[in-house]
Amino acid sequence: MNAAYRQILQSTQDQQATLIAVSKTKPAAMIREFYEAGQRHFGENRALELRDKAEILPTDIHWHAIGHLQTNKVKYIAPFVSLIHAVDSLRLLKEINKQAGILNRTIDCLLQFKIAQEDSKYGLDWETATKLLDSPAYTGFEHIRIVGVMGMATFTENMDQVRGEFQKLKSLFDRLKSAYFADQEAFKEISMGMSGDYQIALEEGSTMVRVGSLLFGPRD
Ligand SMILES: *Cc1c(COP(=O)(O)O)cnc(C)c1O
Repeated sequence: MNAAYRQILQSTQDQQATLIAVSKTKPAAMIREFYEAGQRHFGENRALELRDKAEILPTDIHWHAIGHLQTNKVKYIAPFVSLIHAVDSLRLLKEINKQAGILNRTIDCLLQFKIAQEDSKYGLDWETATKLLDSPAYTGFEHIRIVGVMGMATFTENMDQVRGEFQKLKSLFDRLKSAYFADQEAFKEISMGMSGDYQIALEEGSTMVRVGSLLFGPRD
């Protein structure tokens, strides 16, 4: 297995964080190589690609849905997904709860926050997140469990800015923890950090880094 993998794995383990190998656009054969080296957490950002890969790969893989998820695609991944990272609306959460209910399971989710300056990135802010968590609908969801937060930093060379954005996500996590999840041990995940910034993310308290191109090579 490549040196980059060993190094990233070591840094994440040093911080007791989880390395999610982001395998989007890469063939199942490449995933299998990482699997054989011991990697068990993989992330994909398209629901159908995720489903198709899960069908042909070992069943003890923990699959992470990391990208923006359309409500009409939830049903394809609901049977097996281990964590949905990008929940950014009550509507999406409602659909996840519905599909999980049909399967009689609970699906773990992260609330995605917009921490980057770019307009294109999805995500909640403090106000929209608390509105969601205060809504009567949310209280009635029995088949989802919110276990933390997720965010993506701005794509920039300015690492001070990136660090500041990760600090913002950590502080949102802390505020949510004390206001809504103080008695819930499961609420402990901060999913932040990608190929270009995972080291900074780990320094700022990431518990899950999502690394693609550094492991699998550049995507087309
Ligand atoms: C593609 C992707 C990643 C991984 O990006 P790299 O820069 O290749 O490490 C992480 N998170 C999300 C949400 C992604 O879509």
